[in-house]
Amino acid sequence: MNNRGYMGRILMVDLSKGEFREETIPDEVFEKFLSGTGLAAYLLYDRIPVGADPLGPENVLGFVSGLLTGTGSLFSGRWMVAGKSPLTGTWGDANCGGSFSPAIKRCGYDGIFFTGMSEKPVYLYIKDQKLKLMDASHLWGRDAIETEEMLQEEHGPGARVAVIGPAGERLSLISGICNDKGRIAARSGLGAVMGSKRLKALVLDGKKRITPYDRETVHKLSRKCNRWVRFQPLLGPSIVPALIGALLRVLPTAMAMDGVVYKIILRQWGTGGLNQMSPEWGDSPVKNWKGSNVDWPLKKSKSADPDLVNKSEFIKYHCYSCPLGCGGKCSMTGKYSETHKPEYESVLALGGLCMNEDTDSLFYLNELLNRAGMDTISAGATVAWAMECFEQGILTLDDTDGLDLTWGNTRAIVALIHKMINREGIGDILADGSRAAAEKIGRGSGKYTVHAGGQEPAMHDGRQDPGFAVHYCVEPTPGRHTIGSQLYYEMFQLWKKVRGLPKKLPFQIYHKNSKYRATEKHALETAACSKYMNVINGAGLCMFGAFLGVTRTPTFDWLNAATGWNKTPEEYMEIGKRIQTLKQAFNIRQGIDPRANRLSDRALGIPPQAQGANKGRTVPIEKMMEDYWGQFGWDPATGKPTGETLAGLGLSAE
Ligand code: SF4
Repeated sequence: MNNRGYMGRILMVDLSKGEFREETIPDEVFEKFLSGTGLAAYLLYDRIPVGADPLGPENVLGFVSGLLTGTGSLFSGRWMVAGKSPLTGTWGDANCGGSFSPAIKRCGYDGIFFTGMSEKPVYLYIKDQKLKLMDASHLWGRDAIETEEMLQEEHGPGARVAVIGPAGERLSLISGICNDKGRIAARSGLGAVMGSKRLKALVLDGKKRITPYDRETVHKLSRKCNRWVRFQPLLGPSIVPALIGALLRVLPTAMAMDGVVYKIILRQWGTGGLNQMSPEWGDSPVKNWKGSNVDWPLKKSKSADPDLVNKSEFIKYHCYSCPLGCGGKCSMTGKYSETHKPEYESVLALGGLCMNEDTDSLFYLNELLNRAGMDTISAGATVAWAMECFEQGILTLDDTDGLDLTWGNTRAIVALIHKMINREGIGDILADGSRAAAEKIGRGSGKYTVHAGGQEPAMHDGRQDPGFAVHYCVEPTPGRHTIGSQLYYEMFQLWKKVRGLPKKLPFQIYHKNSKYRATEKHALETAACSKYMNVINGAGLCMFGAFLGVTRTPTFDWLNAATGWNKTPEEYMEIGKRIQTLKQAFNIRQGIDPRANRLSDRALGIPPQAQGANKGRTVPIEKMMEDYWGQFGWDPATGKPTGETLAGLGLSAE
């Protein structure tokens, strides 16, 4: 064990042979890649063979903690899972909060990696120094929450569990990995990779100490950060943000956002604070991305009114080391008595995207999908796509097992999602997401899919904020909203620490038209978001903490204090660039053409919408993608990192 915040060791588990191997990771690796997804990219780049079947034994699935996790830094409880995505065929990762991330380090590892494939269902159990692969036959088929409860009953409430539900077992390409009883690292389809390995769960119960280099400075920085989190003027009832959203829609100008405002929303309502605001200003896609705020006005979106949701909240919760606490548990009636407060993404994917106005169903589907371990974004988007196919006559009652997939038919939506989880009838086809379903169904249904490289984008519309559109297209894991946007750039406030970045002062007014121009300034901002989020994901920090701004959430200072390094912000951004480039090189090595991950035309405003908040808008995506790739020193025409760039970052071009 060292005193630099990280553990310096990983565990490799060969599920085919039932063998364990510990590896020491040299300090230089952490200095070049941090931990988290950076460490995973370093390890998996060439350990996953070229052409590996993502659901085959040669894929490697890694569970990694963050470099800052356990050091006393705030917001540092994110854990990450990484491997080759079966949904997109690209680099895949996902992350989640809760209490699982420190548990990895307390077992003495920065990451636990699985290769091979077990013959029968197993789970990994680590208690102090003892490692065991245990029989999971009695758990196979059970949902994620039931399984976690059974494992904690057997191994004690202190054991921390990551687990797949039936969706992962049935190799749904839109399945994720759950922890803390229904939270989920949902994206990239990595639940199916775990299912293919017949690995039901990880149960971690270690007691190792995590030692930062300079604990006093870490804590001093944390206390200062905490003062910003506690700053909480009351924003009023939820109609206030909804009306602000409407105002933002009608004004010809936009205003740069300060993340403190979003933090206030998060503390009052959680991410659900956007449930009515975002559709108003054009951030939420509606009706499979063909609708707008005109189709989903306040009288419809009130089905997920944040104050209404808060009324059913009986407890708030925080992830490990988080002072903000955007999570909550809500009570509900029916089969399940409670659920995690539905996130904005889930509400809009299962609500406005499908024109579903039934509040109870949003709670029920949230719980159902969390227990199944299926991604709410992709599940909702796939249902919305099926509804449009039904409207177009491509799918008929004969195809849908008699389900009337008319827009907003709540009973049909619920029944269809049950079928997807159970892989029954039409649900078997839809369980792998909209692109795979369209390939099987044919008949022109692909025209109505909205995806980037096979992954359905999240509920943030690139026609409102082109930064989202670019990141959906260019990220090595396409379709992701947790990396960057023009709004995120405003909130990160990186120019305050990193030289050479454009300033976008809080509440600065600018003309909306400027958002849709492919300029060098936008390219610099987009690239900066990707680099910074690689640092955030290497550190294991929560993106919502990063939204407070880089001077209030002192990412770089925490890293220096925890490790004893003395790196400049620019050097950390270079690390972010290295990680991003390595993930892109992973894709190139696996035969992925980066241009093929471009988002579907409809979500880019091709053709532009005729009405609503995003009326007349088109994202100049080709130029924006080229500019982004150019910023990284990758070939602007192909998105391939050049030999010179790879060499400059100390990466080999194998
Ligand atoms: S802000 Fe929310 S998601 Fe992020 S660490 Fe805190 S409680 Fe977890």
